[in-house]
Amino acid sequence: MSIKVYINGEYFAKEDAKISVFDHGLLYGDGIFEGMRAYSGKVFRHQAHMDRLWNSARAIALEIPMTKEEMMKAVDDTLALNGLTDAYIRLVVTRGAGNLGLNPYNCSNPQVIIITDKITLYPQALYDNGMEIVTASTIRMPAAALSPRIKSLNYLNNIMAKLEAKTAGCEEALLLNFKGEIAECTGDNIFIIKDEVIYTPPTDAGILEGITRAAVIDLAKELGYEVREVARTRHDLYIADECFLTGSAAELIPVVKIDMRPIGDGKVGPVTKDLITHFRDLIVR
Ligand code: PMP
Repeated sequence: MSIKVYINGEYFAKEDAKISVFDHGLLYGDGIFEGMRAYSGKVFRHQAHMDRLWNSARAIALEIPMTKEEMMKAVDDTLALNGLTDAYIRLVVTRGAGNLGLNPYNCSNPQVIIITDKITLYPQALYDNGMEIVTASTIRMPAAALSPRIKSLNYLNNIMAKLEAKTAGCEEALLLNFKGEIAECTGDNIFIIKDEVIYTPPTDAGILEGITRAAVIDLAKELGYEVREVARTRHDLYIADECFLTGSAAELIPVVKIDMRPIGDGKVGPVTKDLITHFRDLIVR
């Protein structure tokens, strides 16, 4: 049976789920989105995703034509209609159809799209043995140009870095900011462990404030780890004991090599393993 896609309160078969070619989401990447996961029928940190979506909307002066509560219900209904309990959810709000000019005020009809699907994961081997990443030469878009805190449909900055990752035979690439500090990966936040202290770049390094990142920071603190949100450079990564990435799609994934250099002993470390185990408990709770 084909997946049903929600568009503005109606459901369409996957093949018939379409929006206008005049939508500025397509013409200019003018729109916002969220990537979420449901576990056992419950969307993980649903409210936090709504808050971030509404903040993204506010930042680009886009009025979402429904309340957060209505959106959460629409997401739950779409999951139920598709009989999905463990799923990945893509929530998109476009600026809507306008003319060929940039002016967003010519677009009157934002499109709210909810796509639910089976989870697409990295191969299990990468979770077991860790992944290898490279530093991209593409720098993370500076906040003064376009804030990475906006989860916008403009992902070319990330895609340029993703191309570098794939060219190097990796699944992910690390983006530095314009100061040369570690920002994040193309679709994941990054954590570094040194002497049992957990470090992750602060918001002002120019990152998306990941929902999984926040959950992992809370979890690590609960477990008694010291967590520091401070600027890090590649030097810190080269001398680190462990490293892992977080994201709604990736969850927690260990990184064991950066730029062909092993991190620590090149194996998945104990702190990362501990956090992965406890993160599992968190999502099935
Ligand atoms: N950074 C970027 C650039 C991302 O696209 C994502 C995932 N959408 C993340 C970090 C991780 O955020 P989250 O944990 O909210 O999925």
